[in-house]
Amino acid sequence: MKKHNFYAGPSILSQYTIKNTADAVLNFADMGLSILEISHRSKQFQAVVDEAVALVKELLNVPEGYSVLFLGGGASLQFAMAPMNFLNTKAAYLDTGVWASKAIKEAKLFGEVDVVASGKDSHYTVIPKDYTVPTDVDYFHYTSNNTIYGTEIRKDPDVPVRMICDMSSDIFSRPVDVSKYDLIYAGAQKNLAPSGVTICIVKDAALDKVSRVIPTMLKYKTHVDKGSMFNTPPVLPIFAALQTLKYYKSLGGVAEIEKMDIAKADKLYAAIDESKIFVATVPNKEDRSIMNVCFVMKPEYAHLEKDFIEFATAQGMMGIKGHRDVGGFRASLYNALPMESVEALIACMKEFEAKNA
Ligand SMILES: *Cc1c(COP(=O)(O)O)cnc(C)c1O
Repeated sequence: MKKHNFYAGPSILSQYTIKNTADAVLNFADMGLSILEISHRSKQFQAVVDEAVALVKELLNVPEGYSVLFLGGGASLQFAMAPMNFLNTKAAYLDTGVWASKAIKEAKLFGEVDVVASGKDSHYTVIPKDYTVPTDVDYFHYTSNNTIYGTEIRKDPDVPVRMICDMSSDIFSRPVDVSKYDLIYAGAQKNLAPSGVTICIVKDAALDKVSRVIPTMLKYKTHVDKGSMFNTPPVLPIFAALQTLKYYKSLGGVAEIEKMDIAKADKLYAAIDESKIFVATVPNKEDRSIMNVCFVMKPEYAHLEKDFIEFATAQGMMGIKGHRDVGGFRASLYNALPMESVEALIACMKEFEAKNA
C-alpha cells in the first residue's frame, strides 16, 4: 500500500533527496567510498558544502554580508546560542508556543527579556498581533511557524529593531527579506534533510558585539571564519540538504514552492471547514499554517478520535496523530509532500465521515 507521510519532523523528504543520498552511501562522488567514511576535509565534500551555501543564498536571495552555516545541536541549541551572541542587555520575544517559550527560557539566562505578547491564553491557537516592540532592545525574536499548534507568521514582521527568527518548520516555503534579520536558524529535519544539521544565516557585521565570554564552539564567528569546518560537521545531513536544495531549485525556487504549499493547505482546510465531524483548531484563516494543519473532532464526535487514527493509518496515512499538547490530528504538508497525499487524506476523511456521521 502506498504510504502518505504526514509526520511533523523528522518528516517527508523528496524522492530525489532520498535516492541521491542512498547512492552516496554506496559510492560518493565516484570516490569508490561511502559518504559515511570520507574526510570532511576532502575536496569532494568541500564541494558539497560550497554548493549548499551557494544554493541557500540563491534560493533565499541572501544579501552580501551574510554567512550561511551548517551546525550541529539542533534548533534547540540556537535558543541559547542566539542570545549568547546577540543579547547585550535586553531582547524582545514573541511567545507563540512551546518552541518560542523554550527560546525565551534560554534568553533569560543572558539578559532581560521583554515578552511583548503571548498566545498562551488562546492555547496558542491565535497569533498575537497587538504588540509593540521597544526600540531599546538588541533584537526581536519570533518563531515563524508553530509546528505544534499549526499557526504561522508568513510575512516578515515590521518592527523597529533587528530580528532573529526560528524558521525550523517553514524555511524554504516562501521568500524572506533576509536583510531584516541578524540571524535566521532552522533545524533541517522539517523541510530539508534528516536531523543532525541546523542551518544558520547570520549577518557578519552583527557578530562580536557582546562583551561576555563565549566558548569557542558556541560563537558564530568561529564557524563563519572556518566555513562550518571548525570541527567535523554533520556530513551526511549536509549532503542530503544539498540534494533538497537542488530539488527546490529545479521546482523554480521558493516562490513557486509557496504556490504549491498554499494550494495543498487550502484544499485540506477547505475540506475540514466543510466537514460535519472535523474542525480546525486555528480559528483565524490568516493565522493558519500552510505547513502543519491541526484539526480535531467536533465535541459530539470526540469519541471517534481513536477510530479515525486507526482508520486513516490502515489506509496508509502516516503520522497524523496530533501533538500530545493539542490532541486530535496534525497533517504536516511540508514542501516534499505531493498534492496526491493531501487528496488521499481528504478522501479518507470523507469516507470516515460518511460511515460515522
Ligand atoms: C522542531 C522544532 C524545533 C526543535 O528542533 P531541534 O532540532 O529538535 O532542536 C525548534 N523550533 C521549531 C519551530 C521546530 O519546529
